[in-house]
Amino acid sequence: MSAEASAYGRLMEAGAGDPFDRHVFACAVAIGLTEAPTPLTGALGLAIEDLVVVFAAHFPRGVALLANVPPDAPADTDAPEEPDLRALLLDHRSEGAPAETALAAIVARRSCRANHLWQDMGLRDRSELNRLLHRHFRPLAAQNVNDMKWKKFFYRKLCEQDGLLVCRAPNCDVCVDKAHCFGPETGDAVAWR
Ligand code: SF4
Repeated sequence: MSAEASAYGRLMEAGAGDPFDRHVFACAVAIGLTEAPTPLTGALGLAIEDLVVVFAAHFPRGVALLANVPPDAPADTDAPEEPDLRALLLDHRSEGAPAETALAAIVARRSCRANHLWQDMGLRDRSELNRLLHRHFRPLAAQNVNDMKWKKFFYRKLCEQDGLLVCRAPNCDVCVDKAHCFGPETGDAVAWR
């Protein structure tokens, strides 16, 4: 069993609360741990006090996993657009629940990674990311009516918000880049190999 699958299993055993949310957070923590020596704060975009809140709600018996995170470990921004993406997600939370605040930071941070977003969230497949986004960021996810790739969709929304026109066509149907923005986001589940 891989180290990340082991961490996932321990977290789920030590978990509480909604099973799907617990699964999502456990996946994020498990893949975050694979980025050591980057601490979990840097991998997930959450300050240590925010991680403690997440663990208290979802993994009350798994707090030991935070023992190696330095108290002053930074959760600094990874990319210039990350704060805007985090704000976009925060503005479109379904309920405004604490879990959604944490997930906005995690999704924004993991969107800075190189793979499909579902892979970099440590999820098993894209359908889990769809479920996560429609559950916790419903007003935003519902706007992705043509099922654009999620990172592309986020950046398109940020461009629209800023009044920028980075696309090479007035609409997707006539765009030569359509294949880059749509289509299946297939691949291996990074955390489950
Ligand atoms: S398909 Fe073309 S127009 Fe549509 S979002 Fe992508 S780059 Fe922009």
